[in-house]
Amino acid sequence: MTENPKNQLAILVVEDEKKIAALIKKSLEGEEYAVETAYDGDKGEQLIATNHYDLIILDIMLPKKDGLAILSSIRGEKIFTPVLMLTAKGAVEDRVTGLDTGADDYLVKPFAIEELLARVRSLLRRKSTDKAVATTLAIADLSLDLVSRKAMRGGRKIELTSREFSLLEYFIRNKNKTLDRTMISQQIWNYNFDTGTNIIDVYINHLRAKIDGENEKKLFYTIRGIGYMMKDE
Ligand code: CA
Repeated sequence: MTENPKNQLAILVVEDEKKIAALIKKSLEGEEYAVETAYDGDKGEQLIATNHYDLIILDIMLPKKDGLAILSSIRGEKIFTPVLMLTAKGAVEDRVTGLDTGADDYLVKPFAIEELLARVRSLLRRKSTDKAVATTLAIADLSLDLVSRKAMRGGRKIELTSREFSLLEYFIRNKNKTLDRTMISQQIWNYNFDTGTNIIDVYINHLRAKIDGENEKKLFYTIRGIGYMMKDE
């Protein structure tokens, strides 16, 4: 890590297109962040393993090791640094894969640098507010440990992806309220999906099957034409 005497927030940019990497670095430095760059996947992963970053900007298509493989491996190592993925591909499946692997947000190239800066601010803000909250949440016999990011229902552990955990946390924090798709996409993914995609429904159906599954008592409800609600009755 380069010296960081001003205690700036540290951001790692893993991007093999050097012009784009340089533009991102310069723009972030203009906002007073401390920025390091890596031009291939191996180097990026090595830096993540040895340094502390507040945010990682990770391209998907990289030499040596691709961004999704890096993401999967760092989440497996319990490194929960926020990750903003970059990709030239806009296909829904790629976004779902990235988000499912534990990315916090997504930006499709080409993007406006202002858009990138806004996403960065938002992710860093979300991270700092996360610190001040309680460490467990519960509804009925379902409980979430926000530190270990584990979920239990009726004494049984429920395996969740990082994204599913965040979604569940959002629902429990807003129990007994109807959450529409716009609120959910803005809260969990920081932006609205293209109209016509059903990513949110796909995610909620997966999550719902894991949480309610065989349980007699259902916690998830579909509010037709609007969205979803979690309630305890
Ligand atoms: Ca690339």
